Amino acid sequence: MLKLEGLSKTYKTGDPALSDVTLSVPKGQILGLIGPSGAGKSTLIRCINRLVEPTSGKVMLGDVNLVGLSKADLRRQRRRIGMIFQEYALVERLTVMENVLSGRLGYVPFWRSFMRKYPAADIQRAYQLLDRVGLLEKADNRADALSGGQRQRVGIARALAQDPELLLVDEPTASLDPKTSRQIMRLLTEICAERGLPAIVNIHDVPLAQQFMQRIVGLRAGRVVFDGTPDQLTEST
Ligand code: ADP
Ligand code: ADP
Repeated sequence: MLKLEGLSKTYKTGDPALSDVTLSVPKGQILGLIGPSGAGKSTLIRCINRLVEPTSGKVMLGDVNLVGLSKADLRRQRRRIGMIFQEYALVERLTVMENVLSGRLGYVPFWRSFMRKYPAADIQRAYQLLDRVGLLEKADNRADALSGGQRQRVGIARALAQDPELLLVDEPTASLDPKTSRQIMRLLTEICAERGLPAIVNIHDVPLAQQFMQRIVGLRAGRVVFDGTPDQLTEST
């Protein structure tokens, strides 16, 4: 499904941030990326959707190598990848529903009240997603009235609205308290399992990774230093 081949990144300043990373993520697998700050976790995630330009290597999404695509082709391919961020990146002045619908387009339309312009089927689907993440009753609230956990639920629903084939999740719980973090991780992993949706989750918190991830990849100084199950991680430390 997703295959990284010899992926490397050296920023203009400094040592290699990512060195020769090769790994595959099959359909339905939820992979947690762990490692100390500066290990290259964000760089890895950002190289996959090319928010960061890899120095060398391939990012194969199915049969397509995302590295080297033109801007127009990349835009099309990015629709296949759902992103969930630490800081949610919601549009504060829009409603929950509008934020979810914007995931379908991959951008926020500038028209006022764009709800009315959406096909009924999209709106219906967005309601189903909001129901799934437990936020149906907040559909018409503005995003800026939500708690952190609620915001991340909107972030999840928005990423799913585009029907992605892969989810990239960058420190989804870094701004949340421990209890809310576990709720969000549970929701995220259940939804991925229901849909057979593969995910790469950059997760700072090792116990949380061990509790929820099927596979854990450890990075250190840009290299893969561990790749195994949570149980194997416990044995190796
Ligand atoms: P992590 O997510 O594991 O904390 P990062 O991928 O953010 O690690 O960083 C890996 C290395 O790359 C670090 O040494 C960091 O300072 C460096 N780095 C990250 N982003 C940039 C950038 N935009 N420019 C230069 N160096 C960067
Ligand atoms: P993270 O929390 O993901 O490790 P940081 O807080 O280290 O990220 O960095 C925040 C932003 O600064 C990111 O966009 C990252 O790419 C960039 N950055 C990180 N390290 C460097 C660096 N050494 N030089 C330039 N930009 C950097």
